Amino acid sequence: MKIENFKKAVVKYWNAFLEVLFPSNLKCLFCNADIPDHDKQVYCSSCETSAPFNRGKRCKICDCEMEGEGDVCDGCLEYKKHFDKAVAPMKYEGPAKALILKLKNDNAAYLAPDMARLMSDRLNQESFSFDLIIPVPLSQKSLAKRKYNQSQLLADELGKIYKKQVDSASLNKVLETKHQKDLNMAQRKTNLKDAFLVSNKKQVFGKDILLVDDVVTTGATANECCLALKKYANHVYVVSFARSPLKNK
Ligand SMILES: [Zn+2]
Ligand SMILES: [Zn+2]
Repeated sequence: MKIENFKKAVVKYWNAFLEVLFPSNLKCLFCNADIPDHDKQVYCSSCETSAPFNRGKRCKICDCEMEGEGDVCDGCLEYKKHFDKAVAPMKYEGPAKALILKLKNDNAAYLAPDMARLMSDRLNQESFSFDLIIPVPLSQKSLAKRKYNQSQLLADELGKIYKKQVDSASLNKVLETKHQKDLNMAQRKTNLKDAFLVSNKKQVFGKDILLVDDVVTTGATANECCLALKKYANHVYVVSFARSPLKNK
């Protein structure tokens, strides 16, 4: 055995040993502090107040933070939303943003169960009922490059929590598009036109669907997916781990 491989093996077994003594799933999702009551809550009491939870006054359609009169945000008044309602437990900032980037770029699938638990806590505040869970798809090219779809990881965990079927085949991203973050609002809308297609219409016909995304910023991606699904589905609800805070809009 080469010395490098030997070192790697030692590190691997040492980490496995530490995992037995200090299981990582007993840590706070946000700050990694030990928490004895992880079964009840995936974050510590200090993060209860400091983590960027998506609380306060929010739009009743898209769940974004909002100010002023009324209960629907300017974005939802201006652009028709094709989902029945979207919800997210966190704001896309600080430790919540860091978790999404880690899940997306660092192969950190171990984060998905706790992130999905927060998503289910938020979903349980609503009276949605759904038959089928569908993750926001990546294009074939992006999937080949990234090797996995982070929204699929979250959808799989939600499938376990709700004991519902997860379908990652019926909704497809059929066009390569530019990165939404590099475009303005108007460009974002045209960029995604006809990008998503339902390939198995029978599977979604008449169903109540939960669409799962890691983060919703302007809502354009989720909206285009819902436009495609709504041609056949009954209701489409959206859940994401985080959504953009007020200042970024
Ligand atoms: Zn914490
Ligand atoms: Zn809204």
